[in-house]
Amino acid sequence: MSTQHEVPSYLTQKEIGPWGVYLEQIDRVTPYLGTLARWVETLKRPKRILVVDVPIERDDGSIAHFEGYRVQHNTSRGPGKGGVRFHQDVTLSEVMALSAWMTVKNAAVNVPYGGAKGGIRVDPKTLSIGELQRMTRRYTSEINIIIGPNKDIPAPDVNTNEQVMAWMMDTYSMNQGSTASGVVTGKPISLGGSLGRREATGRGVYVVGCEAAAKRGLDIKGAKVAVQGFGNVGGIAARLFAEAGAKVVAVQDHISTIVCDTGLDVAALQAHVTQHGSVAGFGGGDAVNDRSRFWEVDCDILIPAALEQQITEANADKIRAKIILEGANGPTTPGADDILHDKGVLVVPDVIANAGGVTVSYFEWVQDFSSFFWTEDEINQRLTRIMREAFGAVWTLAQEKNVSLRTAAFIVACTRVLQAREMRGLYP
Ligand code: NAD
Repeated sequence: MSTQHEVPSYLTQKEIGPWGVYLEQIDRVTPYLGTLARWVETLKRPKRILVVDVPIERDDGSIAHFEGYRVQHNTSRGPGKGGVRFHQDVTLSEVMALSAWMTVKNAAVNVPYGGAKGGIRVDPKTLSIGELQRMTRRYTSEINIIIGPNKDIPAPDVNTNEQVMAWMMDTYSMNQGSTASGVVTGKPISLGGSLGRREATGRGVYVVGCEAAAKRGLDIKGAKVAVQGFGNVGGIAARLFAEAGAKVVAVQDHISTIVCDTGLDVAALQAHVTQHGSVAGFGGGDAVNDRSRFWEVDCDILIPAALEQQITEANADKIRAKIILEGANGPTTPGADDILHDKGVLVVPDVIANAGGVTVSYFEWVQDFSSFFWTEDEINQRLTRIMREAFGAVWTLAQEKNVSLRTAAFIVACTRVLQAREMRGLYP
């Protein structure tokens, strides 16, 4: 990244990380915002940041402390909305960037939310189930003052799942004195969760993948697909592409890289991951020791679905895919974006490609408020329609302005956010 950005006093230039990537993306969209550019600084400053200490008693009687965050980036268009991540590399910069990308994503698909995100710096694999529950409940109690069904609604992200959401919902409800199912989404169905939510992000990746493939004249049947991250997003996306006749030729997770030119058996791989916690050791493909070789795999569609800043200036040039579907948030740096653009690779940005999750989270929240639940068919049809419309609008704008899909998505989204900002005016 070439540009030096103004660093908030609570981050050093060295720590700017993913937040710096986001600022660069905002700089790139600013020339297209017309008179709304007057308000653009709003997007460069998170509305509210809460840093919390999360102490727990470990099973052996010792006390452990973890650092937790909840960042509400923007609430101009509605309550904050965004996931909670448990990962050993979580930083404030990362949570800030993820919260900002939620603002952009929610506006890009036009769901009535602002953007927020949370996280705890912890490797949850080192905790027992009891420790995990105590940590989740203490974190929820600490951020209790700023979350709520009309204020800020957390959801699952990396290393958090339906069980974690159930504990968050229960803790918040206990503090309130009544059951508040709408405080989180991604809950178990039995607690007011929505059918189709677990698969929603991966399904959305698949839906926009089909749209992008049609634009490029690529047949999904027989297309070669490579997926980084085989969790909620990557695992489901891989399954849906395989079911549609594509060949999943490479999968990488935090431990291992597995390739198979004739196509992996995705159902068997999923069963292996459920049992062993990783793709490592899967017998239906070849393990590759050099992790960087994943980016050179011969494929048509590449789906980064793990963490930020994976596609960089160091590997972008080696990528052979025609289409990249950003299942992860922030997987591509601005420098890599430029290289991919010059190579003619079509990048469907995170704020569109992975918006299926928050879209069905929105459906879940609406269903919780009305206490009336929809069928899975209804959910999937509405999801597909919203994803196609969002992709179509961004595609058309990108053609009109001769910009990338990312810049077009940011134009659509930032315009919506800043129009809301302008119409609300500044208080007081
Ligand atoms: P997950 O915890 O279910 O899965 C994460 C996967 O990434 C695992 O397979 C893990 O092994 C792999 N991984 C972790 N570190 C890695 C590394 N260094 N190299 C390669 N693989 C690595 O998480 P998820 O919910 O699937 O989220 C994945 C991405 O999708 C994140 O960027 C998240 O923010 C984004 N996302 C998730 C949702 C959702 O609904 N879950 C919605 C939108 C975006």
